[in-house]
Amino acid sequence: MDTEMSPVFAGMANTATPIACAKGCGSCCTLTVEVSADELFALVNYLEQTLDETALAALKTRALKNDAIGHGMEPLARHRKRLVCPVQDPATKACLGHAARPNPCQGYVSVSLPDCEADHANPPQRVERPAMSGILTDLVGGCRDQALASAGMPKTRFELTAGLLAAWREPDAEGRWLAGEDIFPDAKAYVATNQSIPPKTD
Ligand code: SF4
Repeated sequence: MDTEMSPVFAGMANTATPIACAKGCGSCCTLTVEVSADELFALVNYLEQTLDETALAALKTRALKNDAIGHGMEPLARHRKRLVCPVQDPATKACLGHAARPNPCQGYVSVSLPDCEADHANPPQRVERPAMSGILTDLVGGCRDQALASAGMPKTRFELTAGLLAAWREPDAEGRWLAGEDIFPDAKAYVATNQSIPPKTD
């Protein structure tokens, strides 16, 4: 991937695109994040290795509260509820799982903080983003799908908060997923049944 993408990386560097993203912003962490099971387990393992017992318990409590409101909710309606990802530290707004954050989080790059703040305050708003960030996100997601298919694994995506809760709820979740068991039936990503935008409710 590095070899294939090296001209792209060079092009991004040459444009010197100003990136607005910085630690402690977190405005985009109310967007719905769809992850593959391997990304979920990578994040779960990272959080369990890096957080102490108190911080991990607090994160799980935030996840339960978030999921009680937003479980299965259409992404834009969920964004409008401003349900903050439970992995975000409420005190600093930093991502507690930054090193293991899923591909959609890694790839969501903005060049305009005012755009992000406007989208957070009154979604949906257009957020200016480098085209390459979307291309790279799709490329990594596509490569992941190919790798999963090569391993005989499903490429099913899950909503992040519901997936985290399922991974923590199910005993030996990773081992059972690797063995081919469908262990997250209630955490699957939202599938649109029509293209209508839900009405604003708050
Ligand atoms: S995993 Fe981290 S970057 Fe992704 S939505 Fe949650 S807090 Fe934000």
